[in-house]
Amino acid sequence: MARVRLENCPACRQPLPDFGDWPAWCPACGWGIAGEDASAVHMSRFKRWWRRRTDAAEQSELQRLLANPALLSRPHPRRFAIYAAAAAVHLTTLAIVATGAWIMTTGVVGVIKIGAGIVIFGLVFITVPAYRLRPSKAAGKADAPTTLTVGATVAAAVGVAAPERVRTRSDGQPLRPTSGRMLTVDLDRWQGLDAPGRIALLAHERAHHNGHDPRRSMLVILASETLDGWVALLRQDPRTAARRQHRTSAFRGRSAGPPMGRGLVGLSELLIPLVIAPVYVVVFTLRWVLRESGDVAGLRAELYADALATEISGLYPTAYVDGLIGGTLGGVPDLERERRRRMAVAAGTRSNAMHPTYAARLDMLTALAHRPTAPRTPVAISAADLDAMTRELVALSTPNE
Ligand SMILES: [Zn+2]
Ligand SMILES: [Zn+2]
Repeated sequence: MARVRLENCPACRQPLPDFGDWPAWCPACGWGIAGEDASAVHMSRFKRWWRRRTDAAEQSELQRLLANPALLSRPHPRRFAIYAAAAAVHLTTLAIVATGAWIMTTGVVGVIKIGAGIVIFGLVFITVPAYRLRPSKAAGKADAPTTLTVGATVAAAVGVAAPERVRTRSDGQPLRPTSGRMLTVDLDRWQGLDAPGRIALLAHERAHHNGHDPRRSMLVILASETLDGWVALLRQDPRTAARRQHRTSAFRGRSAGPPMGRGLVGLSELLIPLVIAPVYVVVFTLRWVLRESGDVAGLRAELYADALATEISGLYPTAYVDGLIGGTLGGVPDLERERRRRMAVAAGTRSNAMHPTYAARLDMLTALAHRPTAPRTPVAISAADLDAMTRELVALSTPNE
């Protein structure tokens, strides 16, 4: 079926170029570029409020960096607040273990020892991400030699330690954060990119581990997972308490229970929230510090990673950001790339919650490109090596069990 070609823009009447089979849009007035953010519609009020706050914080950090690009290569000072909060989490875990150990050495009755032991070591077991201690099953030098060699070259260019293991991600599957020893490659993105795009992808990934982003340090990752454990533990109780409350009030409505029992139930229902509330406040505050400071410090670190990625790959800002937005770019005409870029900028989209918006990344890179700097010296990686890497990565992503 032949499509009817639009000769003129329905909005501003300007003549339109031939888009072929790609969607029509107007480069002059922006007709055909929807800019509304659909994700905000399904958000709770609290989430919308939080989003507005973080957006404002990100905007002011971005403006600061645009005004003074020299700040970009300096880690954000707010990272110390994050490290302090993370240290507080780990010290709490240690204090709980120490308390448990101390109770075991005292002369209290055996039953109390057993009870305290179950509660204390149960708490630690639930809250501490112990699975992190298990040895990694990700591919090493034997299964991905070229990938790790190329990874080491790029890491050296970025100024980061070489990776020791490789894992792949596809279909946007979420992966747990890791230390810099692990190289994580998004296979879908990798396959959609040309050689400079792939080098940029690796460079950005390696730059995550240059110590600028507190959210990527193991100290903070472990603290954050411990807090998740606490939240999971605490969330259970207010809900069960509410359900219990509901049941007892319904029971009271129909027939009066024994006065003694009712009083005891009332007291225990009051005690649980009284004990939990302070713990909840502490957990909530620590999480708040980790998230809030993580947002601005992380923004700066991500934008710096972009700057390194374009420097090392020799890509221009728009080509780099097109690669981030577009997925597959082979055979996509310039006009369609521009439409996607303008849509992403208008909608304020981002690749994921850890990353700044495409608009912010483009703004920062464009500002950097206008500064007088030494000519770019892209890192040299042969096409043969990149092809060998693709084969290794594909083999890793297809489980042969
Ligand atoms: Zn128009
Ligand atoms: Zn990143």
